[in-house]
Amino acid sequence: MLLKNSKVIVIKIGSSLIVDKQKTIRNKWLTAFAKDIKKLKSKNQKVVIVSSGAIALGCKKMNYNKRNLKLDKSQAIASIGQIELMNLFSKIFSKHGLNISQILLTLEDTEERRRSLNAKRTFENLFELNFIPIVNENDTIATSEIKYGDNDRLASRVAQITNADTLILLSDVDGLYDKNPKLYKDAKLIKKVENLNKDLKNKTFKGNNELGSGGMNTKIEAAKICQLSGCNMIIANGLHLNPIETFTKSNNFTLFVSKTSKLDARKKWIISSVSPKGELIIDDGAKKALTNGKSLLAAGIKQVIGKFNKGDHIKILDKSKNEIARGLSSFSSEEVNKILGHHSKEIKDILGYISKSEVVHKDDMVKV
Ligand code: GLU
Repeated sequence: MLLKNSKVIVIKIGSSLIVDKQKTIRNKWLTAFAKDIKKLKSKNQKVVIVSSGAIALGCKKMNYNKRNLKLDKSQAIASIGQIELMNLFSKIFSKHGLNISQILLTLEDTEERRRSLNAKRTFENLFELNFIPIVNENDTIATSEIKYGDNDRLASRVAQITNADTLILLSDVDGLYDKNPKLYKDAKLIKKVENLNKDLKNKTFKGNNELGSGGMNTKIEAAKICQLSGCNMIIANGLHLNPIETFTKSNNFTLFVSKTSKLDARKKWIISSVSPKGELIIDDGAKKALTNGKSLLAAGIKQVIGKFNKGDHIKILDKSKNEIARGLSSFSSEEVNKILGHHSKEIKDILGYISKSEVVHKDDMVKV
């Protein structure tokens, strides 16, 4: 069976699975979902649920329409709805002997190394205590610049942090189609994606549903993160009762096969960053050095794009703007702008203080 060898499984459920179009809570579905989770747990599989629905349930309670909400209002609505969401899970899951806990994350909690390690430890302790963490973005705090905004990418980062083997995105469609199935009758379900760039070339996947924020594009972003961090990802239709059992039996879903990744946990975290702060464009000589496993020196940098601080995630691009690596910068963007093109020995004189000689050290860099 598909999930048999997965020790840690992250399951993301969208708002439209919690509340239907008439804004009725899908109690029957949640009960059947709890039974699916119970089965996974009985096989000693560790489960994390990433659930949307705070805003949808807040809107339901206050009789608001999500579309008309401004950011500050939606933060208040999420605060009202999150407790409704957890009450719902608590009520239904406890009937099946399942213990749940809540983890609310912001973008910084996953993108800053120390904080992501703290989160990892919390997940591990919850697994040991036999609790199921239910994760959502901390919508009450996050503002648009520092927000995931969709739980697809958040779920993929949670999968990377918990070292999950499989991420399941339960959606309201069967998976990824070659065209929008709501518009085209002849749209075909893509069952397996092994190479994202090659298999999905020239395809665009626009389209949102009413209650969620994602759409296919954020799911593909999530798949990229999973593929790089060694986790399989599945998009499946969650609308059926017992969604996990149903999709595994039906064989109707899209599987994104992970690249078997030999990277250590820290490098996996680097490569699957969701929000690199800037880009460094490098010359051919530096590109060759990087390909041979060397660090990036100031001499090979042509241009700096964006603003970043020391320690931030950045992308390294060649002259044609192809991404060749990702890493953590040892300098701020301001400093790189001053030292680019210069020999490492000159850095001390240019900046006026002693610092590292590599702009991105090879231990802080992963080739894409
Ligand atoms: N975090 C949002 C919520 O709970 C949903 C984000 C999404 O739909 O992906 O309402």
